Amino acid sequence: MTELIQKQWKEHSICAAIVNEKMEIISTGKTTIAQTNDPTAHAEVNAIRSACKLLKTATLPTGYWLYSTFEPCPLCSSAIIWSGIDGVVYANDPRFRGSLPNWSFIKCKTILEQGYDIHPVALIEHFMLDDIKNYFTRHEI
Ligand SMILES: [Zn+2]
Repeated sequence: MTELIQKQWKEHSICAAIVNEKMEIISTGKTTIAQTNDPTAHAEVNAIRSACKLLKTATLPTGYWLYSTFEPCPLCSSAIIWSGIDGVVYANDPRFRGSLPNWSFIKCKTILEQGYDIHPVALIEHFMLDDIKNYFTRHEI
């Protein structure tokens, strides 16, 4: 998470990573909606796409977790379930998004709980929040 938070401050994008069971980073992603004209190109989805492409699978192996500097939105939370990720760790959440719109209109926790029967996903919220919560008061991404 330290690496992702540093990356967000430097590159001005929400940043995500997929980590395997050995805590090795398999892939990273940042938001590329504007660059790719793809409304689904969120950091988390991009990290999942890269990991699945690398491993040539649509379902990640047991023990893979997603880390993100921001709370995964409903799109990303659903993709997390579909990709078989076993756990999510995120830092910031919409409370610290300044005046920008709140795209996490359904909490990640709610989606993961609703999708439990499809694939259970552990959740750690607000990890290292103090290191990132002031970002959006200084930048608009
Ligand atoms: Zn998203």
